[in-house]
Amino acid sequence: MQTAIIGGTGVYDLVTGHESRTVNTPYGQVELDISDLRGVEIIFLARHGKNHTAPPHLVNYRANMWALHALGIKYVYATCAVGSCHADFKPGDIVLLKDFLDFTKTRPVTFYDGHEGVIHTTMSDPYCQNLRGLFMESAAAAGIRVAGDATYVCTEGPRFETAAEIKMFQKIGGDVVGMTNVPEVTLAKELGMCYAAVGIITNWGTGFGDEPDHGKIMAAVEKNKTVLTDLFVKVFLHKELTQRNCTCSGAA
Ligand SMILES: [Zn+2]
Repeated sequence: MQTAIIGGTGVYDLVTGHESRTVNTPYGQVELDISDLRGVEIIFLARHGKNHTAPPHLVNYRANMWALHALGIKYVYATCAVGSCHADFKPGDIVLLKDFLDFTKTRPVTFYDGHEGVIHTTMSDPYCQNLRGLFMESAAAAGIRVAGDATYVCTEGPRFETAAEIKMFQKIGGDVVGMTNVPEVTLAKELGMCYAAVGIITNWGTGFGDEPDHGKIMAAVEKNKTVLTDLFVKVFLHKELTQRNCTCSGAA
């Protein structure tokens, strides 16, 4: 078992046959599930906790990623609900994250606090090129539309963004906005795991379209559950997962 899915809003229903496991880490305990995704054994981790109790700025990102690594996971697909500030990426679409802009403020961002010396992790390819390619191949083969590559803006939350912030994010190259992908992606890189993330566009950013509506957000997530399940299964079942042709395992 080398693969894991980290899910946010509502994607917990992707998997069945949960066997709960508690993992102790230097950063606290993590509860996750060994699950069955249409015949493929994977680990599923609910990012906000099983009962969705941890808000984005208080998610224990270091414990989560440490636990996956401790269990031998090498490949992580994450899903995240995002707002859009790109006219071509509409609510209901899915996008594949390619890069990020970090506007977080208070959360712990690294495993390297100086005990091992000063270590800088390369971010030339934050989302694993190999996993991204496999996902796109599977989507194309299945005739499933991925709206495009997106630059993700990570805000601190838990409040939504202002209209001025969304306007700024758009001007500096942001496509979609969320509250959780940083430091998840960077911590994966520090631990040498391949990490890719799929954004489910649930709403327009503030001032960019309609106001965020919880009902619409849940409807967009619901619509994409089956689509994402099919894509993950195709990648996990039919593709050779390897770290030979990416740089993730030697990034830190
Ligand atoms: Zn990789």
